[in-house]
Amino acid sequence: MHTLVIHGGAGTIVKDDMTPELEKAYMDGLRDALSAGFAVLEEGGTAVNAVKAALVVLEDHILFNAGRGAVFTKKGVQEMDAAIMDGSSLAAGAVAGIRNVRNPIELAAEVMRNSNHVFLSGKGANDFAIKQGIKLEPDEYFFSQFRYDQWKAIRDSDRYSLDHTHLHLEELMRDKKFGTVGAVACDAQGHLAAATSTGGMTNKKYGRIGDSPLIGIGTYANDATCAISCTGHGEMFIRAVASYDVSCLMEYRQLSLQEAMDVVVNKKLKSLNGEGGMIGVDGKGQHAMVFNSAGMYRAYKNSRGETDVLIYR
Ligand code: ASP
Repeated sequence: MHTLVIHGGAGTIVKDDMTPELEKAYMDGLRDALSAGFAVLEEGGTAVNAVKAALVVLEDHILFNAGRGAVFTKKGVQEMDAAIMDGSSLAAGAVAGIRNVRNPIELAAEVMRNSNHVFLSGKGANDFAIKQGIKLEPDEYFFSQFRYDQWKAIRDSDRYSLDHTHLHLEELMRDKKFGTVGAVACDAQGHLAAATSTGGMTNKKYGRIGDSPLIGIGTYANDATCAISCTGHGEMFIRAVASYDVSCLMEYRQLSLQEAMDVVVNKKLKSLNGEGGMIGVDGKGQHAMVFNSAGMYRAYKNSRGETDVLIYR
């Protein structure tokens, strides 16, 4: 069975805060990404190409905190992180702190395929993008007024904040949302892949790197166990070694995907106050979507014809 699962971030996403128009825009964005990625699987394409295709759509969508629409750092610019992993070979590529790259996930895939390395950061990653002919965009392309307003509200403080839509400081403190995007897939051959892309957290310090581009933390894929993409308060996911822990619980304790994800999200992360969630798929194409926050933008589709697009708990 082939399966694609995607997420568009987790957090305090509650229906009362949502207008029907905004809800529809999020659902449409998720549906478009799901169709793009699932089409690759339907045509017999690889899990790696499917997760990449889904993420490009979400990165191009201004509502999600990745690529266009990414959040602002303390310095008022966008610095993006992304990673991709191929579960069939354990090949992986990641980038951190990159600027002006239209689709960070394309650059991560280029690192995986053509750099002899796994992880490039900052200027070196940007120079590699130019050398490989990866598409760049000017600062204006990434600008979104609502992310700018979010940043302006806290830029004079030392506070950094998870992605959110409310503009008042008190609400920023209370109302945490995450808009990172991710995808995991199991293709017709039973190969797995995972990909994650993010602008990180609003007002994050210059040079801060979150969990998303870290292999085994925000992103992991291994045909023997699972493919995982995370979203949430990155610092806690790093301390929990989140996605590799799911794989280990499956490999060494023979837990199912759902059981392993429950342990990591609802026990381990919770004990660290780590708000967020993750999506996963195993080698049989079974999927799980687990979060300890009020909501998580998420969707899945499989070759049995099962599909759903969900936001709230
Ligand atoms: N995990 C991301 C980070 O900490 C944020 C998010 O998921 O929205 O950079």
